[in-house]
Order: sequence, then structure tokens, then C-alpha cells
Amino acid sequence: MMKKIICVVLSMIILVSSVGITSFAKDKCDCGYAPVVFVVGQGEDLYLNEGTSEEKLVPDITGNLIKLIPKFVLGYTLQAISGNYKALGALLQSMFHDIVDDIACDRDGNSRKNISLRHEEFDTSGRHAALKYGEENSMPILPCDYKFKYDWRLDPVYNAELLHDYIEKVKECTGHDKVIIMAHSEGNNVLCSYLYKYGSESFEKVMFLSPAYQGLSILGSLFSGEYHLGDKADDLVTFLDTNLPESPQNGLIRSSISLLNKTGILKIILKDVQRLLDNVYEQNIYDTLIDTIGTMPGMWSFCPDEYYERAKHRAFDGKEGYDNLIKKIDHYHYNVQKNVPSIISGLLSDGVVVYIVAGYGISSIPVSNTSPNQSDMVIDTKYMSIGATCSPVAQTFESSYKQKVDDGHNHLSPDMMVDASTCAFPEITFFVRDKNHNDDPPAYCQFLWQLAYQKEQLDVFSVDGYSQFMKYENGRFINVTSFENAEKQSSVKLFFESLLSLFKGK
Ligand SMILES: [Zn+2]
Ligand SMILES: [Zn+2]
Repeated sequence: MMKKIICVVLSMIILVSSVGITSFAKDKCDCGYAPVVFVVGQGEDLYLNEGTSEEKLVPDITGNLIKLIPKFVLGYTLQAISGNYKALGALLQSMFHDIVDDIACDRDGNSRKNISLRHEEFDTSGRHAALKYGEENSMPILPCDYKFKYDWRLDPVYNAELLHDYIEKVKECTGHDKVIIMAHSEGNNVLCSYLYKYGSESFEKVMFLSPAYQGLSILGSLFSGEYHLGDKADDLVTFLDTNLPESPQNGLIRSSISLLNKTGILKIILKDVQRLLDNVYEQNIYDTLIDTIGTMPGMWSFCPDEYYERAKHRAFDGKEGYDNLIKKIDHYHYNVQKNVPSIISGLLSDGVVVYIVAGYGISSIPVSNTSPNQSDMVIDTKYMSIGATCSPVAQTFESSYKQKVDDGHNHLSPDMMVDASTCAFPEITFFVRDKNHNDDPPAYCQFLWQLAYQKEQLDVFSVDGYSQFMKYENGRFINVTSFENAEKQSSVKLFFESLLSLFKGK
């Protein structure tokens, strides 16, 4: 009798567990194409009272500018007549405040008003064919099955918790244990916070694209008050030269600014702007900047380490009530931003495939008190690549330059603008010349697909058809071979040629 009972119990157990196994197996997907999750960069639209009749897109920049420009013209004229900056400063302060006040956070770094993203229903169908799609066609768009969006003002560590829930949902509905994750710009700050908190378990591959994980010098300069425009005439010309794509309109803009620079007029204008800033930035703009933009932990995550402590003291010394905000931004800065190299090493030692892609060859916005760095216009190349050595903007290294670290490979760009040997991960860091921060042309998307599709870890020397340094030509990606900067045209010639082709165009 006892034997019979044991037999029945045993067979029950076997039956139950085998049912368990089959139903488990049925939920798994063996399609061979991991789902691709893309973590977007900063700038998703924010709505006040979303989904109600009082819903409003914030900040309302256009609406405010229409109201504010006439005020500014009046204030500027009065200042020019009276020589007194006080009234103009107060006016600029209230203008700036009106524009950004809606989206400011409170002194704890949380949203002050009822602001959210546009509500989107999570797609539970489990569709995940982005990688497969690229195999059959060319990949003209970002290879992506699931797009994670977030309130970019908030703490990246908080957003990482939402990303964690999101990835769990993706895994559940697709039947894959691991996903491929790509992040753009601020998305990398959220992704690194995730990796810090939850580790690498859910990922087959991680791709850091134009990453803001080490910050950007423009933000560091603004927050630390170390900006300077007065002597930036030449830098402004270089900025426009390296940023504006070729077109008759842009030719006209570039040649006009260049002519203004040659005649010395641009220097006078910039000195005047600097005088205005000297008079109003300290007293009026800076505090408003900190009370609004400076209350957003997401913005503080853009502050590079070399500015961070100075900027924090400049912003909060002598002010009450910011303790919780400081705790949040310190937590991110010292555990995530400063640990990015060890977070990435951790991924590699866990066997996760990792790539980093950074733009170069474009001047960053010339506002800081140092010369602008090579960048993708927004983020400095040295920060995105974790340590590349770059030539000055629009120049090359000396012809005698030797790569700083000899690891047995060549990591010096053929155009003599980037030495990748000083990067934290030179073997997996790619560079795209003249890539503008927010541009994803089809050639770039195709390259990302190629990286995402190959299962094993490749290095910069082993991706078919690509190399460590690439650039666009006629819509295609080609390897950078040498420094072939277009012959500098005379500004006068460019001015008249652009004018002529604009007329012909009409
Ligand atoms: Zn699948
Ligand atoms: Zn190497």
C-alpha cells in the first residue's frame, strides 16, 4: 500500500513538473533574434496635465518668445540709451523664468507641476524583428523593437528603475531572457545607472551611442559660471564652418560671419554681448538658471567631473533647502558617472558584447572659457570616447605626432585628428567624423545594425567593411583615409557664389 502511494505521489510529481517544463518551453522564443531596446536621448515632449482638458505642451518656447521679443528689443534699446543694465537684467531674468518655469523641479529634484510624457500603451504582442528586418533589407532606420522614453529632467537613477520594469516586460512578452540594448546621449546615463543597480544579467549586448555618461563641457561651463564669449570670434567662425552642412543659405551665413570677423566687427559685437552677460549673468540669469534648469537632476548628470564640485559650490553655497537634491546628484555623480569605466569593464568580464560610438571633427558651442573641443556639436569627443586625445578643432596633430599608448595596434586616425590609444576601451570604440549629435542617416543605422547583428564581440579591426574611424560620403559610410579638408574658399568668393546660387534657385 505504502509503495503504491509513493508511486502515485512520484508520478504526480513527474507529471506536474513535466507540464511545468513544457509550458515554460512554449513561452520561450528560439527565433535567434534578440529583441532590441533603444533608450532615447534627452528631449521627449513633456505635457502639463496630460490627458485632461487643460493639457499643455511645456515649455511653451514659441508662445513665450512671441510675447517676449518685443519686450527685449525695448529693454535693449533703453539700456543702450541709458547705459544702465539693471532694468535689462531684470527683464532678461523674467523672460528666462517665464520660458522655463513650467518645467522646473522643486528643491528635492522632483517635478513641481503635474508633468508627464504622452501616455503610450506598452505593446504586449511580443513582436521583435528589427534584426531580422535588417538582414532582408537595408536598415535605413535605427534597429529597434522597443523604445524606452523617460522624463529627462529627473534623476537617471530613478529613470533606471522604470527602465528595469520595462526590460522585464520586454523579456516576458518576447520570451527572451536577454535583450540587446542601445542608448543615445542621456539614455546612456539612465542605462549606466541601471547597470550600476541591476547588473548585466538581462543583456546580450550593450551599445553606448554618442553617450553623455561623462557629461559635456558646455553644461559644465554654464553651471560653474565659467563661460566666455568676448574673445571667441575665431572659434565662432570655426563652429559655423564645421557645423553647417553645405548649402547656398549656409554658405551665405558662413561667409558673412567670416567677413564680419575679418573686418573686426564680429569681435566688437561679441565684446558687447560679453559686457551684457557680465552685467546680467551674475546678478540675474545665473540664480534663475539654477532655480529652474539647475533643479533637474537629469541636467546635473551632464556636468563633467572636472567641473562638478566647482559648479555645485557655485550653485548651492549659502542657499537653504537643497540637501535632498544634492544627495541625489552626488549619488549619481560618484556612483555612476565616475564609475562608467568600471561599469563597462564589468560588462565585458560578464561576457556581454559592448561597443561605444562617438562623433568627432565638429566644434562644440564656443561658450566656455577654454577653446572649444572636438565634439558632435553637443558632447565632447574626449568624454564620449572615455579619454581619446583630440587635435584642436579644425586642425590636425603635428605630422611628427606618435600615438600616446603603444599597444601594438594603430589607434591614430588617418586624418591625424584623434588618438584613440588613450581611450579606456580602444578596441571597441568607433569614431564617426562630422556626425552631428542628433543625426541618424541611413548609413549610420546600417552600421549599428551590423554591430547589433553579429553575435560575437568584434573589435574595431574586425567589422566587415568598417574601421575605427569613419565618415559619410554621398550618403555612404567610408573609412577615413587622410586629412582632406576642402580647400578653404575665400569668404568674398563664397559670399557672392552663395548669393548667386540662391537667386538661381528662385
Ligand atoms: Zn525571438
Ligand atoms: Zn589596441
